Amino acid sequence: MNLTVKIFIGLILGAAIGLALNLGAPDLFTTLDTYIFGPLGTIFLNLIKMLVVPIVFFSITLGTASLGDPKKLGRIGGKTVGFFLVTTTIAIAIAISLAYVVEPGNIDIDTTGAEYESSEAPTVVETFTNIIPTNPIQAMVEGNMLQIIFFSIFIGLALAMLGKKTSGLMKAIEQGNDIMMYLVNMIMKFAPYGAFGLLASAIGEMGLDGAQAMFMYMVVVIAALFIHAIVTYGSAVSFLGKMSPVKFFKGFFPAMTVGFSTSSSSSTLPISMKTAQENLNVPKPISSFVQPLGATINMDGTAIMQGVATVFIAQVYGIDLSFSAIIMVILTAVLASIGTAGVPGVGLIMLAMVLNQVALPVEGIALIIGIDRLLDMTRTALNITGDAACAVVVSESEKKHGIENLEEQRLQA
Ligand code: ASP
Repeated sequence: MNLTVKIFIGLILGAAIGLALNLGAPDLFTTLDTYIFGPLGTIFLNLIKMLVVPIVFFSITLGTASLGDPKKLGRIGGKTVGFFLVTTTIAIAIAISLAYVVEPGNIDIDTTGAEYESSEAPTVVETFTNIIPTNPIQAMVEGNMLQIIFFSIFIGLALAMLGKKTSGLMKAIEQGNDIMMYLVNMIMKFAPYGAFGLLASAIGEMGLDGAQAMFMYMVVVIAALFIHAIVTYGSAVSFLGKMSPVKFFKGFFPAMTVGFSTSSSSSTLPISMKTAQENLNVPKPISSFVQPLGATINMDGTAIMQGVATVFIAQVYGIDLSFSAIIMVILTAVLASIGTAGVPGVGLIMLAMVLNQVALPVEGIALIIGIDRLLDMTRTALNITGDAACAVVVSESEKKHGIENLEEQRLQA
């Protein structure tokens, strides 16, 4: 049986057992969660998280060094960020339109006593200046992705410029990268059990209570996620990436299941990179650059949740959003996604920022928090798919510059 099928079975079994225990034997669930589900999930999460920082460092350094010159890097960077911004804007536009058509917030719901403590979000200027690490080792210790990316790009550029002089270190980084990719393969063997534990734990805790009241909200978010995946990514990979959407989604599916179980783009990164390189033939230098960046700054699924949630909360509280407020929502959601890392639940913190921006009641978040876990899983699967779609599109557009041969050229040199 292949690994994807096994992971999928793990997911379904986990969800089914979690739900059954939640409905029939909540006490038994608590015990099993403490001794089996929880530990299985945590072991898997820790195993892949263990690789994230070294993989980002090795692969970006190597990717940048293989690209060789800053011009090429600038061109690829420009295309990548352009793709991210355009697709995120489309995502949130789909979400808002769908929420206006379906009106999920036109329900009778008691909002008294709803409370939500929002945490401080960094300002836009802070977000940009913070990208430069004053202490790269600290950035690695803290797992600050944008800072690690920034530092690795600089090291990669220096390696490219210094050429033969630093070939020893270059070789070491190459080998470091090979070791990490080898470990990803090993760890993936544990993924079905990890997925089982994570799902049983999440569904067992959440159950269906919240789901009934918020049913329409969930349906709208999930529908928008699907529409965006099929229409936006489907057309991007087929028209710009010259790849059949079926091949794309089938090839990337294993990574999506892991994104779904972990609810974290950052944690899934080692697996999304490996999957894109092996199943979608994305050249390493491009995958190494686009996907870590995407895991941090590109979150279309999160933007979709924010779009729907904003309209939902406005409808529940009976507040009309003006056209300019809607534009503001789009802008803030796109900007907010740049500075926040892809970790579980971060979407809600960003949502607080968006609501504040258009003067909607932040307590409204309390209404959707109960079912956010499930939606977090779904949107994370989409978030990483967007990064992979971008990698496919950028690879295709770089073909005319001979990107696929870079690795070979460098190895021969
Ligand atoms: N969990 C999401 C991610 O890692 C972010 C979020 O929407 O909360 O991509």
